[in-house]
Amino acid sequence: MDTDAVRKQLLERAAELRRRAHDASAEARHEADPLSADFAEQVTQRENDDVLGAISDSARAELVQIEAALKRLTSGRYGICCGCGEAIEPERLAAVPYADRCRGCAESGRHRGH
Ligand SMILES: [Zn+2]
Repeated sequence: MDTDAVRKQLLERAAELRRRAHDASAEARHEADPLSADFAEQVTQRENDDVLGAISDSARAELVQIEAALKRLTSGRYGICCGCGEAIEPERLAAVPYADRCRGCAESGRHRGH
């Protein structure tokens, strides 16, 4: 498996989600005034928190899953189903690169109401 390509794909997706959340939160707060560079620097961390607070639940859940997938990549467990321990279908990973369960486990989990 080309883990570098997968990692890049996950990081790009995470960046896109954060950018979208940032745009949405800036719009929501009607922030049109440009901040000074120094001030912008100081609030970067807090603003990141605000962004994550303003992010939609689905985007936040996706970011959490992406971060978990990146950790699995690092630890060499990427692509292994956390339900049954078998390899996740390649076409499922292509469609959902942060999937942590094979199709069978994901579907049985859904039936249990997760
Ligand atoms: Zn499974």
